[in-house]
Amino acid sequence: MKHWSAKPRHALLALAVIAGVLSFAACKRTPTPAETAPSIAVKPAPANETADQFIARVNEEFRATYAELSAAQWLSSTYINDDSEMLAAKANERWLTQLNGWIQQADKFEGQPMSPQTARSIMLLKLMTAMPAPRDPARLAELTRIATRMEGMYGAGEYCTGEGDAKTCRQLGELEDVLRDNRDYATQLDAWKGWHTIAQPMRKDYVRFVELVNEGAKDMGFADAGEVWRSGYDMPPAKIAAETDRLWGQVKPLYEQLHCYARTKLDAKYGMDKGEVAGHMLPAHLMGNMWQQDWSNLWDILQPYQNAGSLDITGALQQQYQQDYSTELAKHAGAPTTDELVEIERAAQLDVAKQMASRAQDFYMSLGMQKLPDSYWEKTQFIKPRDRNVVCHASAWDMNMAGDVRTKMCMKPNEEDFTTIYHELGHVYYYLAYNKLPPIFQGGAHDGFHEAIGDTIVLSMTPKYLQSIGLVGEQQQSKEALINAQMRMALTKVAFLPFGLMIDRWRWGVFDGSIKPGEYNKTWWDLKAKYQGVAPIQARGEEFFDPGAKYHVPGNTPYTRYFLANILQFQFYKALCDASGFKGPLYECSFYGNKAAGQKYLAMLSKGASQPWQQTLKELNGSEQMDASAVLEYFAPLQAWLKQQNEGQTCGWQASSAAPAPAKPAAPAARAG
Ligand SMILES: [Zn+2]
Repeated sequence: MKHWSAKPRHALLALAVIAGVLSFAACKRTPTPAETAPSIAVKPAPANETADQFIARVNEEFRATYAELSAAQWLSSTYINDDSEMLAAKANERWLTQLNGWIQQADKFEGQPMSPQTARSIMLLKLMTAMPAPRDPARLAELTRIATRMEGMYGAGEYCTGEGDAKTCRQLGELEDVLRDNRDYATQLDAWKGWHTIAQPMRKDYVRFVELVNEGAKDMGFADAGEVWRSGYDMPPAKIAAETDRLWGQVKPLYEQLHCYARTKLDAKYGMDKGEVAGHMLPAHLMGNMWQQDWSNLWDILQPYQNAGSLDITGALQQQYQQDYSTELAKHAGAPTTDELVEIERAAQLDVAKQMASRAQDFYMSLGMQKLPDSYWEKTQFIKPRDRNVVCHASAWDMNMAGDVRTKMCMKPNEEDFTTIYHELGHVYYYLAYNKLPPIFQGGAHDGFHEAIGDTIVLSMTPKYLQSIGLVGEQQQSKEALINAQMRMALTKVAFLPFGLMIDRWRWGVFDGSIKPGEYNKTWWDLKAKYQGVAPIQARGEEFFDPGAKYHVPGNTPYTRYFLANILQFQFYKALCDASGFKGPLYECSFYGNKAAGQKYLAMLSKGASQPWQQTLKELNGSEQMDASAVLEYFAPLQAWLKQQNEGQTCGWQASSAAPAPAKPAAPAARAG
């Protein structure tokens, strides 16, 4: 399984064959096509096999086929061409067929006596794919074809303007650059609308896709595909909505303060007629991000204090690069040619990337974890190759369930990539810790755990820690620096929360039929308004299919995991800070080097998916409940500061057709334009 970073700078992207398929691959990847009905024979079950024997056999067969599947996927991500794609597609088709075969063979054990471990394994087997495929081979093939086509449409999506020689086309990355760097109202609107045109042709496919995965879900005995997704949390699937609403309710007041502050700043920047949309909502195209899920690109507008306490991590890493470059240059005899200079540059890039990974490894080792195996350093993709296309999106891979772990990034010496490698190694150490378990149990306690593990470490990368490893100099402590640091964090992690929730609210409704194809777009924006308080400046009718402009919808990656991970990482962080004996404000805690914290952490990872997550959490911090209070504790200084800033403002917003979500009683949208 591989895990894709939650971030194209935190844009929870991902692509990859198997993860679309295996639900315990939390980050994800591109499913692949099967142009013909699968022709792969599934090994028949031996006569008189008991349930326990059945699971033992599945684990064995799973282990045997796994390495081939991940090798095909690694290849297709690091050498993109038709051949590698075909091999990955075939491997994926075999896998889906085999999985369906096992699930059908499991049917006969229903109601039979079996060990609790076996019962859990059968349950996990059914939940292993986020794309339950119909048992009918022709429709299974149709499903994988549609999935691949939608993914292809997303990947190849571009927005073209102009005619003839003046025609220019831009892909997602370039349109995102506009939202990040350009502050012109109309230019941003054009980029935002332009990207959303790529999704319009997906609508028809998506309607059929929903029918097919629902058929697959029903074949397994579930009501619909949404119920499959909600069944992975060791609680009745019907309770997940209420459970996530409970967590959202805890953090919503903080989000509303942040929302209010952002709106005020946008009003000041663009004027009240443009800085907000009717009902005090934030304009979808002005948030510096295509989906309004991360507002950190608006730092130029939202920064609380100029030049207070900026930790120049990027600067320090670039210095390191310059040093490495000089070292590589010194190794060279005589005056290098232009070509040789390029090689020297690349050698220096690789050096600094490995040093960054090494720093991250050092943090994990300081907690008592093992050294990464030599093969990690040999087989990882650290920097972007020059001679071929690769998927640069950061991801973490377990190739063989036996120690061949890798990360795949195109690292540059900057802060974002530095924290990303800490995040990715979280997945890697999770793999290594649970590799001793039977294959079916090799997964996160639930899918939110896997994404939260590395970020727990990232929270511990405090200014003091960075100073202690010599990366940055002595840090000045000031209120201003603290607020700036908290704001940076909040623009990523707090702004994300309602987005993390609304995507699956929409899909659950689509899968269970309460949202009809004729209202896909309307309900999407209703939910965006309700949870995020964002809106397009003009109504988006059913001629659009705006959900398809977010990767995880055509890519079919469940999203609730990312919401849960953003809560859980604070809960884990607090638990480990407590275990380390830290006293003081939570945001100052780093458990770097603390073996007691490390022991608790490693114990959690080692359990994998072998027991209900409630038990795993209880062993960590004594509680069986997910809880967002550590988020509030962490951001307490920022929340107090925001309240001050927002004094006199009418906070909250009114979504026109969805339920309003006011913080204070919201006034009618009297001043909106
Ligand atoms: Zn990840």
